[in-house]
Amino acid sequence: MPRSSGSEKKIRENICPRCGAASATGELCGSCRIHENPWFTCGKRVVCILCPTCGSRKEGGVWTDTVAEREEIARDLVRRSVQIVPEVARPVLKISVKEMTINRSLAEVVLEGTLFGEPVHAMCQVEILWQKEQCDRCSRISGSYYEGIVQVRASGRRPYRHEIRTVERIAREIEEGCYASGERLSFISDTDETKDGLDITVGSQHIGQAIAAAIVQRLGGRFSTHPKLVGERAGKRLYRITYSVRLPRYGKGDVIVVNGRPGEVIYASGREIRYREIANGTERSAREDRVERYIGSTRDAREYLVTFRQGNTIGVLDPETGTPRECFVGRDAEYVPGQTIRILNDGDDLLVVGER
Ligand SMILES: [Zn+2]
Ligand SMILES: [Zn+2]
Repeated sequence: MPRSSGSEKKIRENICPRCGAASATGELCGSCRIHENPWFTCGKRVVCILCPTCGSRKEGGVWTDTVAEREEIARDLVRRSVQIVPEVARPVLKISVKEMTINRSLAEVVLEGTLFGEPVHAMCQVEILWQKEQCDRCSRISGSYYEGIVQVRASGRRPYRHEIRTVERIAREIEEGCYASGERLSFISDTDETKDGLDITVGSQHIGQAIAAAIVQRLGGRFSTHPKLVGERAGKRLYRITYSVRLPRYGKGDVIVVNGRPGEVIYASGREIRYREIANGTERSAREDRVERYIGSTRDAREYLVTFRQGNTIGVLDPETGTPRECFVGRDAEYVPGQTIRILNDGDDLLVVGER
């Protein structure tokens, strides 16, 4: 008897006081504890704001680019709206998104896991509202907002075609770099070719400065900045800056004459020119005002076939007319018959500027 009464007592202690089911500790059983404490919460509705022009997304008042698809964004938002208590072991979320209208999607969420040793399972629905708003970048661009103009000119001439093309390429590269690093407002709003050169209208001072510096680094010359006060906003003075880029009179690849000898320009800052003498390859520097004559650019050189060589004289064939011509080359020049060389016309003379 004492034995059976002991076991009755033990059974009484090890049941759930709420539902009477077995409970190892005699406290609330697993399923009653689950009912007592909600183990998850699920957002009813999430809002996603996208720019209809460029697809950027606004979150917490901040615009960022996104390459994600609508469904991917929706899943991410829904996932973040669901909270599961940390006691749930091995939680699993299954989300399926259905597009209801252009402005509205509906997500079905299935939640699974293990809580207090019991498998748990639940479902909820989250509504996704898609809202359209023009982003900071697009509204500035469409509102013709700008903070500066990069004006590209050349000293004593108009910028060459190839320089304009290079400048445009540099500007686009810088813009892409700014955008990739999250500088959304560093955009180019306009490029305008004028009779004097190229004007690039920019959305921020940072990109203006960067473009001007990169042009000078690539093409030589100098730039200066000219701020102009245009007003005040929220107690801050607003400036627009003109970045005045001046390409050098002579640039890389130009063939000039200094001290009676032709040389090919390697780099020009605007005051000083570094060049290579064509006759012997020696590198020299000269002030720009020491240039006696401009012959042309190596870009305009044409290809000639070498027909013979006699000492310092070589014979070549004019590529257009087939007329044989002769020209002088340096003693060290290793031009041989059968070779194609690049020649620039200097009036009646031919100037060899290099091999093909
Ligand atoms: Zn219970
Ligand atoms: Zn946009």
